[in-house]
Amino acid sequence: MPDPRFGPSTPLVPPLYAASVYTLPDLDALDDVYEGRAAGYIYARDAHPNAHHLADQLAKLEAAAWGVVCGSGMASLSAAFLALVSAGDTVLASSRLYGRTTKLLRQEFHRFGVRTVVVDTCDLDATRAAVEQHKPKVVFAETQSNPLCRVADVPALAEMSHAHGATKLLIDNTFATPVLYRPTEAGADLVMESLTKMIGGHSDVTLGFLAGTDPELLPTVNQLVSTWGLSANPFDCWQADRGLQTLDVRMRAATANAAALADWLAGQPGVSRVVYPGRADHPDHDLSRRLFPSGCGNMMCFELADGRDAVNRFMRAAPGVPFSPSLGHTHTTISYPSGTSHRYDSPAEKRRQGITDGLVRVSVGCEPFEELRKEMAKGLGAG
Ligand SMILES: *Cc1c(COP(=O)(O)O)cnc(C)c1O
Repeated sequence: MPDPRFGPSTPLVPPLYAASVYTLPDLDALDDVYEGRAAGYIYARDAHPNAHHLADQLAKLEAAAWGVVCGSGMASLSAAFLALVSAGDTVLASSRLYGRTTKLLRQEFHRFGVRTVVVDTCDLDATRAAVEQHKPKVVFAETQSNPLCRVADVPALAEMSHAHGATKLLIDNTFATPVLYRPTEAGADLVMESLTKMIGGHSDVTLGFLAGTDPELLPTVNQLVSTWGLSANPFDCWQADRGLQTLDVRMRAATANAAALADWLAGQPGVSRVVYPGRADHPDHDLSRRLFPSGCGNMMCFELADGRDAVNRFMRAAPGVPFSPSLGHTHTTISYPSGTSHRYDSPAEKRRQGITDGLVRVSVGCEPFEELRKEMAKGLGAG
């Protein structure tokens, strides 16, 4: 309904509708909204304008048929698995996943009789064999894994998933974002993003997003999100909408900074290893060039030869690169996988993944490169 106070004008940016509930003129109007004959809202846990506005833009960006915003990245993953599996089903999951996602599958879904089989999705032969053997309902991988940026060959995973009619490919695209990669265009059925990271982009929202190519799945996902209480609140959606408007420029600037930082770090004394898919020595360098023609993203790692003590000295000497165990901020932040995301992995598991005591993960931001290089030099100077 047009608001007479505005006359012919409308706000340039979407207003924040904080309402948890709406009012309707009568029962006929209520029926019209419930049954989809009229647009409208009833109860914010079911739907609200700020979530819709954000979801529409993100779905377009992902080249998906539909999109739903959820209260966190984990909420959107929960919604995805709840929509796709039931007791007795199998999920085939990458052996390099965000820690909470592993917990979600191994602890939570396991309790409801969903089996998770883990495979190294970078080994395509092993993955194909596992798909044929276990006939999973879902194959799940991250476009770029945390923290070592191993890259999933999404087109190949889509092809082998679809060779078995009922298998869906779900991709966590949080590290790449739709600016660098759109999994649906490579055949993924569903894609998930943590909006808490680069898309929100300012470290002030916790939100997630799920998108899909099959329009028939949308009513199921909407029901699940409302019934399990996975919905997003309006304020976070409004904030994330602001972040989204600059995603493209932030991602491109941060990607250029990351490429420059990786090359610079590789020449610094005390740095024993640099991990960035844009560098020729990364195990997925060729695949990255094929998948990410506009750059390999803002996430990278470097290793300090003197281990944990050197990391402590680095942190104390370079407060301008805050130690902050998340990613996707406007400015560069660092994290320490061995003590945060992989804290509870056994030493053997950490060794298997290459997560050493000196490994520092960097979420590169979009500040001027010289500013970043100077701050990093301070940290390394404390060597
Ligand atoms: C942060 C993250 C998640 C979870 O997102 P939240 O918004 O923190 O719930 C899932 N996957 C990846 C790769 C992440 O980095």
